[in-house]
Amino acid sequence: MSKKTILVAGGGGFIGGHLVAHLRGEGHSVRSVDVKPIDEWYQVSDGAENVVADLKDIAACHAACDGVDDVYNLAADMGGMGFIENNKALCMLSVLINTHLLQAAEKAKASRFFYASSACVYNADKQVNEDVVALKEEDAYPAMPEDGYGWEKLFSERMCRHFREDYGLYTRVARFHNVYGPDGTWDGGREKAPAAICRKIIHAKKTGETEMEIWGDGKQTRSFMYIDDCIKGILGIMDSEILEPINLGSDELTTINGLVEMVEGIAGVEFKHNHNLSAPKGVNGRNSDNTLIKKYLGWAPEIKLIDGMTKTYEWIQGEYTKKHS
Ligand code: NAD
Repeated sequence: MSKKTILVAGGGGFIGGHLVAHLRGEGHSVRSVDVKPIDEWYQVSDGAENVVADLKDIAACHAACDGVDDVYNLAADMGGMGFIENNKALCMLSVLINTHLLQAAEKAKASRFFYASSACVYNADKQVNEDVVALKEEDAYPAMPEDGYGWEKLFSERMCRHFREDYGLYTRVARFHNVYGPDGTWDGGREKAPAAICRKIIHAKKTGETEMEIWGDGKQTRSFMYIDDCIKGILGIMDSEILEPINLGSDELTTINGLVEMVEGIAGVEFKHNHNLSAPKGVNGRNSDNTLIKKYLGWAPEIKLIDGMTKTYEWIQGEYTKKHS
C-alpha cells in the first residue's frame, strides 16, 4: 500500500481519534487538527502532527490542507440529542468547516475528500413510528431533516457533490448512524445515548441509587455501530466509486429500553426506570438500510451490540473511576 499524507479534521474527537490511530498504524503521515486544547483530545497518536486550530477559519483550512493527499472531515460542533436540540445555530456553523475545507482541499490539489454526514439528514416523516422501515439513501428527499444539525449535514453533502461536479474534486460522503465505543464523549452534555446510559448506571451503582432516568418513553428504536466497524466503513467508502451519500450504520435494531436493560445486564444491576417525557428524545424510530453498502463494498457490521457495549461500559467505568477518585 502506498504511504500518503493525510489530514484528519476533528482528530481530537471520538471518530477522528480512532481514524488517526488506524492511519498511523498503517504507516501514513497524518496531520490531525482539532479546535480543542490537546489535553482534551480523546487520543493523541504518536508520530502524528497534532495541530490545534479552528477550522471554521479559511486560513487555518489552507494551512491544514497544505501538502496533503487525502482529507477526512470529522470536525463538527455536535453532540447527542440534548446538545443538538438546544444548540441549532452552533451546529449549523459547522457549515463553515466543511465549506472552507473543500475550498482549501481544491486549492491544495488534494486527491480525495471524505465528509462525515449523518442519519439526521433523513426526512422526519419517515421516522414517526417506532416500528421502522429502515432508511434508504433516497429517503433524504424531499428534504425535512433534523432542525439545525441535520440541515447543515444535508447542505454540506450537496457542497461535496457540487465540488465534485464543478471542480472535479474526488469527494465521498457517508451517513453515519449512531457510532459508539471507547475514547469518546461520556459526560458533560454532548454524550449520546450509549455512553450516557453506561455513565448513569455506573454512577447509580457507585452511589447506591436504585432508580435511573430515561429520556422519553424508551420505546424509541435505534441502531448503534461500533467504532471499529465505522473505521473500516469510512476507509472502504473513501476507496470506492460510490459517488452519492451512503448509509454507514448497523441494522441491529433495539429500543432505548432494550439498550438500558442490556447495560444493566453488563453491570449486573437492575434499576427502577423513571421516564422523563419532556427530555429530548429525537425521532421515534430509525434504522439503517444497508442494501447499497453491502452491494458496493460487501460491508456489514461485525461487532454485535452486546460485545461493543461491554467494551464501552468497561472503558467508561475506568474513566469514571479516574475522575471520581
Ligand atoms: P466529536 O465531537 O467527538 O468530534 C468532533 C471533533 O470536531 C471534536 O473533537 C471537536 O473539538 C472538533 N471540532 C469542532 N469544531 C471544530 C473546529 N471549528 N475546528 C476544528 N475542530 C473542530 O464527534 P464524533 O462522534 O467523533 O463525530 C465526528 C463526525 O461524525 C461529526 O461530523 C459528526 O457530526 C459525525 N457523526 C457522528 C455520529 C456519532 O454517532 N458519533 C453520528 C452521525 C454523524
